[in-house]
Amino acid sequence: MNNVGHAETARSAPAVVVGIDGPSGTGKSSTSKAVAAKLGLRYLDTGAQYRAITWWMLTNGIDVNDAVAVAEAAGKPEVVSGTDPSAPTITVDGADAAGPIRTQEVTAAVSAVSAVPEVRTRLTELQRAIAAEAPDGIVVEGRDIGTTVLPDADLKIFLTASPEARAARRSGELGGKDATDLAGTQAALIKRDAADSGRKTSPLAKAGDAVEVDTTELTLDQVVECVVTLVEEKRSA
Ligand code: C5P
Repeated sequence: MNNVGHAETARSAPAVVVGIDGPSGTGKSSTSKAVAAKLGLRYLDTGAQYRAITWWMLTNGIDVNDAVAVAEAAGKPEVVSGTDPSAPTITVDGADAAGPIRTQEVTAAVSAVSAVPEVRTRLTELQRAIAAEAPDGIVVEGRDIGTTVLPDADLKIFLTASPEARAARRSGELGGKDATDLAGTQAALIKRDAADSGRKTSPLAKAGDAVEVDTTELTLDQVVECVVTLVEEKRSA
């Protein structure tokens, strides 16, 4: 019953656009999906789109460290994102990419591909189009949503957490052997964040008007509650 009530409230409210940025392992995806589901909004994982293009480059024999080759191929793959927060999907040229984009190979290559301006221009256009088409609004998660993709978002959140907490969460998600390699996971996270923060084109950064939420000591439910309250405050303002 509660969920139905939430959805009805959301439908009668004006569309709301929420951007959630932050480094890896801060709980962006879980938070964004749960907030979208609670408020009856669509959900877009922009990291999945960068991963999808990276997967396409790898499977098509493009050297991901050759920025010219990546730029030349950037327009070729067709990435389609399904934005239902309870069952988000991603396809590349019609093929389901949800599994392959989570491999270590893609994770290790994605920062190089996402640093190429032609890749960013293409995906930024796609992300803006998806947000514009969301009837009741959308939660968009990434690294540059508040600064570049949707600078006029109604609410911008920047999630942070200590490197230890981020590595522990990411290890838990990976499971198996990686669950025990905390130090390795932490080193890989820090390397990827440094690359994402240090690139020239739309780096990982907190927008000036974003609300920073440190999730280190918070449960997922607490973070979701905090963001939902901020959205509701914006809506009633
Ligand atoms: O969020 P996730 O870890 O899946 O993102 C994968 C990578 O995609 C990031 O490390 C970053 O290189 C890139 N990315 C980006 N801009 C975004 C979202 C993700 O550059 N808005």
